[in-house]
Amino acid sequence: MSSASEIRLRTAAPTQTRALAAALVALVDDGDLLMLVGDLGAGKTAFTQGLAAALGVTEPVTSPTFTLANRYEGRLVVNHLDAYRIEAIEEAQDLALIELLEDGVTLIEWGDVILPALPEDRLDVRITFGTGDDDREFVLGAVGPRWTARVDALRDALGEWAA
Ligand code: ADP
Ligand code: MG
Repeated sequence: MSSASEIRLRTAAPTQTRALAAALVALVDDGDLLMLVGDLGAGKTAFTQGLAAALGVTEPVTSPTFTLANRYEGRLVVNHLDAYRIEAIEEAQDLALIELLEDGVTLIEWGDVILPALPEDRLDVRITFGTGDDDREFVLGAVGPRWTARVDALRDALGEWAA
């Protein structure tokens, strides 16, 4: 099933996933939240690396495995979180997520784990494995007015990877 606020994409190499994410650069702003969902090795970190690089982050972006949140300075601040280790929603609330979200673009890997703690205004990026080893399928879902308003612009910016 697909809906008007859903965008289906595919890539065939990690460089393409980075380029896809980088193509969002003109469409993101302070306060934006992207939730990244997908199994280990799907490409959640690769996606984050692409967007961060496009935002002028020069520091290497790695999986925030030992910290819950990494902060990078680029044209915008990039907050990179991994919710995988968060076992209780209370812990997510302790993160002061809402305050974090006020400054920069925030990407949360495994965000679905803390879904009830996330604002109803975000871009959901769901990544699954395709047929070949390097094939990945993306479903982007706009949640809330902030992102729904940008769906047509997103579709245009990401046309190269349309599935
Ligand atoms: P996650 O953060 O979802 O666990 P990573 O981004 O850390 O995933 O790793 C993705 C792995 O899959 C990397 O080793 C990357 O080289 C590989 N890969 C192969 N094809 C793709 C693709 N199309 N997009 C993203 N990563 C890919
Ligand atoms: Mg990762």
